[in-house]
Amino acid sequence: MSGENDAPAMPDTMRAVVCHGPLEYRLESVPVPVPGPGEALVKVEAVGICASDLKCFHGAAKFWGDESRPAWAETDVVPGHEFVGTVVELDGEAAQRWGIVVGDRVVSEQIVPCRQCRYCLDGKYWMCQRHDIYGFKRRTPGAMAEFMLFPRDALVHKISADVPPAHAAFAEPLSCALHAVERADIHFGDVVVVAGCGPIGLGMVAGAKSKNPELVIALDLAPDKLDLALECGADLVIDIGSEDAVERVRALTDGYGADVYLEATGHPSAVGQGLNLLRKLGTYVEYSVFGSDVTVDWSIISDDKELDVRGAHLGPHCWPAAIRMIESGRLPMDEICSHQLPLAEFEKGLELVDSGKESIKVSLIP
Ligand SMILES: [Zn+2]
Ligand SMILES: [Zn+2]
Repeated sequence: MSGENDAPAMPDTMRAVVCHGPLEYRLESVPVPVPGPGEALVKVEAVGICASDLKCFHGAAKFWGDESRPAWAETDVVPGHEFVGTVVELDGEAAQRWGIVVGDRVVSEQIVPCRQCRYCLDGKYWMCQRHDIYGFKRRTPGAMAEFMLFPRDALVHKISADVPPAHAAFAEPLSCALHAVERADIHFGDVVVVAGCGPIGLGMVAGAKSKNPELVIALDLAPDKLDLALECGADLVIDIGSEDAVERVRALTDGYGADVYLEATGHPSAVGQGLNLLRKLGTYVEYSVFGSDVTVDWSIISDDKELDVRGAHLGPHCWPAAIRMIESGRLPMDEICSHQLPLAEFEKGLELVDSGKESIKVSLIP
């Protein structure tokens, strides 16, 4: 163990949010985890609350009891997969593998790959068959706690200690947004439309802008979120509450439609909107987690436009870029990280994310 001599004595117990089932999340006193060989113990500095945390909290069928879908969540798990922390304990093996020492500021990618399934062996670790994501499985407890473990197979990155904790924890959603942008294969002449100016949509706007296409257009209903999209690099914003986005985009593109549509609202109506405002042979990227099934006329995808429809999940290979973007100071991070609450107020945090009106990214500070 490094840092043994100067380290303050570790407490035996810590406060943690524990998921016991839908709507059954409780703040409890639990044992501080003890790192095994090759693992690291990290003191959590901030943990963001994600739409998927909320979906899990409300007991969506995907997570609870729908046999036809994978069970992402288990009970008796500490939630939280968007986090930053400080290394407090690790052995030489872990230090060498990750290139970190006690005291370093670190994030870990949200998925801990098995490194053995066909996806992992093919470098597609974010599709790992076992799919251990912090905060949803007992094998990988999350960050809504004072301390957490990084298992041996964790993918760990350093991040500057100069960045406020909530901003640093935004590396997770930003990496996801950047991966969705990569999936879109944006070209210089493209007109790119981003639907939804929440944390992911704003990250997509910033990522799309850095690909330098012809035009980045952001859609939302909330004027203050559209203002933030402009700060993140949108060339133009459309308030879909007062304007017809499909008509406006057609008018801007000689009647053809947008080249790329990135969907980050989670709202079913945004799917049809995207299919309608894309040009023929356009590219649709879906990132959202939906609360209900979506019905559209699929013949737009085939017969009408021969669209390229792509999914996006997690932020593979995008963490270094996301971390650099946060460290660079080019994003309005104080506004994006709109709310920081103590761990004990996790329920208020979940409510803020649920209402979605006044918050962008809500974080807990253990
Ligand atoms: Zn997330
Ligand atoms: Zn795997």
